[in-house]
Amino acid sequence: MFATMEAVRVEELHLASDPQTGLQAIVAIHNTHLGPALGGCRYLAYPDVDSAVRDAARLARGMSYKAALAGLALGGGKAVIIRPPQPSSREALFEAFGRFVDKLGGRYITAVDSGTSGVDMDCIARHTAHVTSTTAGGDPSPHTALGVLAGIRATAKARLGSDKLDGLCIAVQGLGHVGFALAGHLAEAGARLIVSDIDEGRLEQAVEHFGAQPVVADALLTMPCDILAPCGLGGVINPQTIGKLRCAAVAGAANNQLDSPEMGDELAARGILYAPDYVINSGGLIFVALQHQGCSHEEITAHLAHIDSRLTEIYDEALVERRSPARVADSLAERLIYGS
Ligand code: NAD
Repeated sequence: MFATMEAVRVEELHLASDPQTGLQAIVAIHNTHLGPALGGCRYLAYPDVDSAVRDAARLARGMSYKAALAGLALGGGKAVIIRPPQPSSREALFEAFGRFVDKLGGRYITAVDSGTSGVDMDCIARHTAHVTSTTAGGDPSPHTALGVLAGIRATAKARLGSDKLDGLCIAVQGLGHVGFALAGHLAEAGARLIVSDIDEGRLEQAVEHFGAQPVVADALLTMPCDILAPCGLGGVINPQTIGKLRCAAVAGAANNQLDSPEMGDELAARGILYAPDYVINSGGLIFVALQHQGCSHEEITAHLAHIDSRLTEIYDEALVERRSPARVADSLAERLIYGS
């Protein structure tokens, strides 16, 4: 366990067990240098406790990097509730988790993640104030989409010389909560859209509403376009796909777009500008974090401009240092988090 903590520089691990509700939970607090650790709560089955700890620790680090580059006074954390084979009461389980989070005294703020919903956060909120993304808060996806739009403009400016999207060809992979809203903003800005989704219904809607050109799912990556916006799966930039890309830049919402850090170097070597995923998709985090701090709608929307300026800073540094934007983003985050 200590080896896992040291490998990703996690400061604290907290374990909770409540036999009455079946709760077995782990909270990983990566770093609190910039503020309390905020990060989602997963509710998933794991093969063993070690893999649950590794998941929480790795994801907590990711949240520190994301919060730091989003200009938030927050550190990174993550919680994992190990899904029992036969859960009794889900409500009671999340209420027990709420009591556990409260005992941490605000060092960790929880939120929705894989396998949890706003309703689960409502159960947690009965026992602690250190929770965000409850049903009252609303869906963060529209803010993620607005942040990605701002990031696409910054990327177009850096790679193509202008932030005007009018007439640009943009390929959007995945038309879910974020991708569909993003496609709407892009169409409104005058971009020509190529879209794919494994869900036929979503694809038809994008054709109907935005005049988008539909493409069979995997073929989208190889279509000639100005900007490729992965908004579905992670790992889309991998050794099998990278040589087939025909875009000037990759800028989308999906988490973990690079199969490995080397893929970021390879994109840079091929002249494809990459918007580091955790920077461009931080609009949702900005929304839930500032909402928790009691900020107004206007303040939250204004903070999204951070995404544009942060990406521009990363692209400028990448150019000067001849490193990939992905590596520059990591170094910048580490300077903010560790002060080195
Ligand atoms: P979602 O589940 O609503 O949408 C994903 C879409 O991708 C679905 O419509 C799905 O059918 C489609 N898809 C899956 N496989 C595909 C494939 N092979 N080709 C084309 N389409 C495919 O998810 P979302 O909330 O819109 O999030 C999209 C991505 O952005 C995810 O990687 C998510 O982790 C990331 N993200 C989301 C948010 C947010 O606020 N929702 C914030 C940060 C990051």
